[in-house]
Amino acid sequence: MSPRESPIAAQRARNARLLAQAEQLALADRAEHGGEELPVILLPANSRNTVELPEASRDAFLDRLRGTIAEAFSEAVRDNSAPMSAEADAARQDAGWALPASIPAMPDIIGASCGTCRGECCTAGGTHGFLHADSIMRVRAQLTDDGETVTAESLEARYASYLPARHYRGSCVFHTTAGCHLPRALRSNLCNRYVCGGLAQLTRALVSTGQTSAYVAAADSVHLRRLALVTVAGSRAIPLRDVN
Ligand code: SF4
Ligand code: SF4
Repeated sequence: MSPRESPIAAQRARNARLLAQAEQLALADRAEHGGEELPVILLPANSRNTVELPEASRDAFLDRLRGTIAEAFSEAVRDNSAPMSAEADAARQDAGWALPASIPAMPDIIGASCGTCRGECCTAGGTHGFLHADSIMRVRAQLTDDGETVTAESLEARYASYLPARHYRGSCVFHTTAGCHLPRALRSNLCNRYVCGGLAQLTRALVSTGQTSAYVAAADSVHLRRLALVTVAGSRAIPLRDVN
C-alpha cells in the first residue's frame, strides 16, 4: 500500500488481484474440461479451525437466549399471517437482493457457494446467533401453528439440543463444518435472509446472462483459499495450484 492509499483502496486492489487469479484458474479449468464462459465471483472465506464448543460459550448462549425468550413470551403469540419482521425486511433491502424467480435452482446454487466460503458471515454470530425476540416470536408462532404447546422451557431445550460438540473457533455457537447446526426454521430472521455482496453479485450475474453455473472463489483479505465450479447439480472443487 502506498503511503497515500486508503485501507479501502488497498482492499479493492487486493480484491482485483484475487479476482484476476481466480479468473486465470477458471480459464485453465475451461481449457481442461471444456464448457462455456462463466461468471467468476469473489466471495469471502472462512479459514478458521474447529474446536470443541467451549462450555462458557454454551452457557453464554443459553443465558442470553433465556432472556430473549422471556421477552418474546411477554407478548401474546403472534398472528403468523402477519408480514415478516421489520428486521428481516430491512436485511433483505440492505442487500438489495431478492431470490430470482427466473432461476428456480438458485437456493441450491447459493448453498454450494456458501459451502465454498464456509460461512464467513456466521463468524459474527458469536454467542447470540442473531436470535432476537422478533425471531423467537416467529418461531413460537410457527410451532404453535404446527399444533405444539410451546413453553419458554421447551423452546430453550429445543435450541440447546442443537448446540454442536464442535464449532469453528470463535464463530457462532452453531457454526460447524457441515454448516449451520440449527434447522432453518429455528434460525433467526436475519440468518434466513442474509446474502453478502458476493452472493448478490453472483445472483445479478446469473440473472443477466441466463446461466445457472459460475466459478466461485473464496478469499480472505490476502489469499485465495478455495475455488469451485458451482452448478445446479452441485459443485466441483478446483485445485489452487500455481496461485499462492
Ligand atoms: S452469505 Fe456470503 S459470507 Fe455468508 S456464507 Fe454465503 S458466501 Fe459466505
Ligand atoms: S445461527 Fe447458523 S446461520 Fe446464523 S450465524 Fe449461527 S451458524 Fe450462521
